[in-house]
Amino acid sequence: MKKLALSDDILMQIDKPARYIGNEFNSVKKNPADVDIRFAMCFPDVYEVGMSHLGIAILYDMLNKREDTYCERVYSPWPDLHNLMKERNIPLFALESQDAIRDFDFIGMTLQYEMCYTNILQILDLAQVSLLTAERKNDDPIVIVGGPCATNPEPIADFVDLVYVGEGETSYPKLLELYKEHKKAGFDRAAFLRAASKIPGIYVPSLYEVTYKESDSTIESFKPIYDDVPAVIERQVVKDMDSSSYPTKMLIPFVRAIQDRVVLEIQRGCIRGCRFCQAGMIYRPNREKSVDILKEQAKELLASTGHEEISLSSLSSSDYHALGELMDFLIDDCLSEGVNVSLPSLRIDAFSLDVMSKVQDVRKSSITFAPEAGSQRMRNVINKGLTVEDIIGGATLAFKGGWNKVKLYFMLGLPSETDEDMQAIPRLANDIAAAYYDTVPKEQRQGRCQITISTSFFVPKPFTPFQWAPMYEAGEYLRRAKVVNDEMKAQLNQKSLKYNWHHSDVTVLEGVFARGDRRLCPAILDAYKNGCFFDAWGDFFDFDKWLAAFEKNNISIDFYAYRQRDLDEILPWDFINCHVTKDFLKREWNNAMNAKVTPNCKMNCNGCGAGIIGSGVCHNAR
Ligand code: SF4
Repeated sequence: MKKLALSDDILMQIDKPARYIGNEFNSVKKNPADVDIRFAMCFPDVYEVGMSHLGIAILYDMLNKREDTYCERVYSPWPDLHNLMKERNIPLFALESQDAIRDFDFIGMTLQYEMCYTNILQILDLAQVSLLTAERKNDDPIVIVGGPCATNPEPIADFVDLVYVGEGETSYPKLLELYKEHKKAGFDRAAFLRAASKIPGIYVPSLYEVTYKESDSTIESFKPIYDDVPAVIERQVVKDMDSSSYPTKMLIPFVRAIQDRVVLEIQRGCIRGCRFCQAGMIYRPNREKSVDILKEQAKELLASTGHEEISLSSLSSSDYHALGELMDFLIDDCLSEGVNVSLPSLRIDAFSLDVMSKVQDVRKSSITFAPEAGSQRMRNVINKGLTVEDIIGGATLAFKGGWNKVKLYFMLGLPSETDEDMQAIPRLANDIAAAYYDTVPKEQRQGRCQITISTSFFVPKPFTPFQWAPMYEAGEYLRRAKVVNDEMKAQLNQKSLKYNWHHSDVTVLEGVFARGDRRLCPAILDAYKNGCFFDAWGDFFDFDKWLAAFEKNNISIDFYAYRQRDLDEILPWDFINCHVTKDFLKREWNNAMNAKVTPNCKMNCNGCGAGIIGSGVCHNAR
């Protein structure tokens, strides 16, 4: 039997030891002596969250398809194990081989949300690797990060050696070949990093210098320190989704993961252009997989995992061109074998409901819609492209189809939001409840309908038309939640309505990180040293420790979160080219301020800049 990195004594003391023993069904086993490169792929959050992440599954499969590479997995040890590892000086290990990852060639991490930044430090700390890139030696692993937050990696610039900007399938082969060459020639870290900076999509933060204006602390210049290092990093995207690498065997966790099902990615990108949505901008253009490839992949995935549920993954599944055909196939070929289909990310329209009604099991659960804003004016500001008729019409169809529980998601604190816009949220929910009582005859009702409103607080993100917008202070967010709550009480159908809202301290921190620069690094380091990690988990989040770290390092929340940026200011992420041009984002910001709707990419190309990629929706006939 394989040796484990943790002794039985430790495994007995911690919660869910199965998180750390590896050996899951479909995990890859190689002899480390047979490969040139050992890669530790980390998701900087707990096992159950990381195991549900599709991007890691794709890269794990893709890297292990290479004979010269052994890619293993690492997740953040839960605080109970964290303390024991520190106490007993146990280095962080990879699940497959249980070997210490400080001896690997690469430690790669995906950055899915800003609140994982201290978990990056936790991984490095437990791995016993220097937290700062400047202190790493030739035989330390290369620390590389990717994922959506890599589109503004500046707040973690001091901690990472390389940043991969774009979709992992594209530049990893070049990077690994370069690494092998350098390893054979006697590895010199600085020379490797310099050479890697020339690979498209690879950013090496230590090779750039930033200066700031004395007058207002904004960026004066951002440039490479050597002439041969590129001034602009081009985000890399997959052009042809059909031929891109996709795992047909998914790992089956021992501990119940957040998503205990097969995930089938049907497309990347989104045609819609919601102005708050970073994913909708950075994953442009929308690129679909062909339906035949999806049918094949679905069959293989279900056969190799034994899962009884398949989930279609994309930003807006109802926009997929052949969703009806794919659903018919899944229902005829898969449902007969007792398999369920789940469809997150649908829009409120007749088509989506028709598709959902084909899936037997959904009727038991509630139906979720995300109008995002209560008033039509506000929905136009964010370019949601939904009218009140769409929403009420969609809800009515859902009630006719047998649902009586509806969940509605909204954001508070959007640019230009007024009290009137907020009050429109419960009023809309009330109208939806009224549609239930108008639609479903008394004798067919199973009690009252239940409309649950949830609001989150809006955080402006880089590469969106709202990247210049100010946020509100924490107290103001709570006032906004109260406006909604008060209005709830004035509704006729209030007994059918329920309201949940999120706390705002985390939102403020997320806002600081999302648009932060490299001056935040010392504060993140101090916060970690003072015990902050797992900040995305309410139980562990300690705002006071963060405030202390900001104060010590002269970080002004006002400057990073609450300030309206000038349209001409140099932003910390301006050196990254995500293909969507700043001119387009400015145009969209102005359209937002005039509550003007921009049509979706299938209706009309609005010249966002992503057409330069030469694939996807921009090049298909409309
Ligand atoms: S170039 Fe046109 S079609 Fe392509 S993503 Fe941009 S707006 Fe959409």
